[in-house]
Amino acid sequence: MKKTGHCSKCGSGNVIRVPDRPNRHASGNNIYTSSFTLMKKIPVIRYVCRDCGYVENWVERQSERDEIERAYGLA
Ligand SMILES: [Zn+2]
Repeated sequence: MKKTGHCSKCGSGNVIRVPDRPNRHASGNNIYTSSFTLMKKIPVIRYVCRDCGYVENWVERQSERDEIERAYGLA
């Protein structure tokens, strides 16, 4: 739904992009790779379907995905 602009569950075109907020230390949805960079925080962008409530999470930058791979490796 990030690429299509449509909900992948119900097909609705009413999809809301919810960006990460800087300094949002308290809230849950970020991925921390602190084993390599102290307090490194990877923002996770959410796409929310207005009609059915389905949520997708995306790490949008390749450099951030590389950082996660360095911290956790591939599954
Ligand atoms: Zn939907």
